[in-house]
Amino acid sequence: MDGYSLNSTKIETFNRSKYGFFSSGYLIIPTNIATSSRNGNGLLNVQSPAGGVRRFCSEPVSRDSMNYDVVIVGAGPAGLSAAIRLKQLCKEKDVDLSVCVVEKGAEVGAHILSGNVFEPRALNELLPQWKQEEAPIHVPVSSDKFWLLSKTRAFSLPCPFNNEGNYVISLSQLVRWLGLKAEELGVEIYPGFAASEILYDTSNKVIGIATNDMGVAKDGSRKHNFQPGVELKGRITLLGEGCRGSLSEKVIRKYNLREKGQGQHQTYALGIKEVWEISADKHEPGSVLHTIGWPLGS
Ligand SMILES: Cc1cc2nc3c(=O)[nH]c(=O)nc-3n(C[C@H](O)[C@H](O)[C@H](O)COP(=O)(O)OP(=O)(O)OC[C@H]3O[C@@H](n4cnc5c(N)ncnc54)[C@H](O)[C@@H]3O)c2cc1C
Repeated sequence: MDGYSLNSTKIETFNRSKYGFFSSGYLIIPTNIATSSRNGNGLLNVQSPAGGVRRFCSEPVSRDSMNYDVVIVGAGPAGLSAAIRLKQLCKEKDVDLSVCVVEKGAEVGAHILSGNVFEPRALNELLPQWKQEEAPIHVPVSSDKFWLLSKTRAFSLPCPFNNEGNYVISLSQLVRWLGLKAEELGVEIYPGFAASEILYDTSNKVIGIATNDMGVAKDGSRKHNFQPGVELKGRITLLGEGCRGSLSEKVIRKYNLREKGQGQHQTYALGIKEVWEISADKHEPGSVLHTIGWPLGS
């Protein structure tokens, strides 16, 4: 598990060797359920984003349930920072809150886009000793360039960015390190578990999340290794799913938060990431190059 030790006694009831890995193909996306239909066998037919039909067993299942003070969904920079800050406050106030984080990636950092220009201000506030504690932040930005590319030429433009004092990092590595710091403070992190459902009490208050079922066959029937999802109940549930979070979207709609808070719609764009191997003599550590133009047309 990439250096992560799950030290809770509760882990026995929430063990990856018991539950195995999730197949992301069976992640129930709540917004999809709205557009799903039942067939005669009690199966739920869900139109997948890729256009195919996925089926989930819709029979009621009994699930294990665990109680925490705070349940956090998503071990990204936001979820882990929140977990760390909560535990720091516990120390300061001499109280003990149980905090857990569920992460759908097979390990912490697995779903984090890597290359990143990092402004350390927030980390300075959260973990001021990050340099001494060997955070994976080593390469200060040494130059900022902004080029307009044509197919054959590069035109240097005045750079609208100022990355002085920032670093070039792997965000995935930083998040792994944050995971270790969180665990040192007593946060329980469960990678490999996707939160697929929000749990509500009878007065419509959020009381936690449930992870999705495992061992469901393509036709929606239970396979021999079927395992129902697990309920993680919290006095506070914090969604740190990143942009376009499926549970976040569901909660925003249910409580009308966008209208109430005049919030923006969750936005995202698709991009292509390229990792280039260049000869050592061309490597300038910390050099940041922003480009527009080619290979896009005009
Ligand atoms: C291509 C690209 C380049 C970027 N470059 C920079 C940059 O140079 N500098 C910069 O400061 N920022 C950059 N960003 C933005 C930065 O990546 C984000 O602001 C940051 O990652 C947001 O952190 P987060 O914790 O909110 O969400 P995320 O980083 O998206 O983390 C969310 C985590 O939650 C998990 N998760 C989601 N849903 C569930 C669920 N239902 N159950 C369990 N786990 C779940 C995900 O697997 C993920 O690990 C870039 C973003 C992109 C897309």
